[in-house]
Amino acid sequence: MTAFSYFCVMDAYEADKSLGTVVFRQNSRIRKLAIRIAGRAVIVQFPLECTLKTAKSFLEEHRMWAESVLRRCPTMTSTVIDENTELELLNFKIILKHDAKQNRCYATMDLQRECMVMHAPVSEDIYSEDIQKRIDSLLFNILMLEAKHYLPGRLNYLSEKFGLTYAECQIRKMKSRWGSCISKSIIHLSSLLMALPQELSDFVILHELCHTREMNHGKNFYALLNRVTENRADEFKKKLNDYAKQPTLSILFALA
Ligand SMILES: [Zn+2]
Repeated sequence: MTAFSYFCVMDAYEADKSLGTVVFRQNSRIRKLAIRIAGRAVIVQFPLECTLKTAKSFLEEHRMWAESVLRRCPTMTSTVIDENTELELLNFKIILKHDAKQNRCYATMDLQRECMVMHAPVSEDIYSEDIQKRIDSLLFNILMLEAKHYLPGRLNYLSEKFGLTYAECQIRKMKSRWGSCISKSIIHLSSLLMALPQELSDFVILHELCHTREMNHGKNFYALLNRVTENRADEFKKKLNDYAKQPTLSILFALA
């Protein structure tokens, strides 16, 4: 027999253009409609006797208020990670499940679906600042581990293929740059490269490798970069700029 919880809670999600993630939560404990901004989502709570349609028009009545709260704190909703989030990494994708019985966030690998699953505690509101922070740091660690596992080998491969040598490689949590090359021999790569398609992360690596010969962005540098990318430097540069605007990447850029 199915046991119905007395505290019946049902969520419907919506991605709103100006408000970000909006959760419509039907709650048997409440008598009146209410809106709150919790953690990084706008939550519209409505009693059992109300319909989703009523909840939506209630949100419209209070939209200006919600927008003004969010304007004062613009990063609040932009980086929410929930069960609708799907992050595509180079070797697997990452999804979130709100199903952990313990009070901690952890990750497991679903080998069949080639998918990394982050688990958040069921007992907690997934949109609370605390849980979102814990998910952020879990995601950050996954990204870093994967980057340390993959990028040094790829750098080495491309270095040997094109005869561009370097002395040292460091993987960093850089958010403002994909990579950098210091003093002709030390290459820094951002762990966020794992969120790019391979041709674009290769392009970044090749860009840094070219700096081992040419420490500027002059004519010779671009001639070399074009040589190692089959004359596709401009094309890759444009693709990289376009790719960086994707909403899923903004989630990763926002990680501390
Ligand atoms: Zn450069």
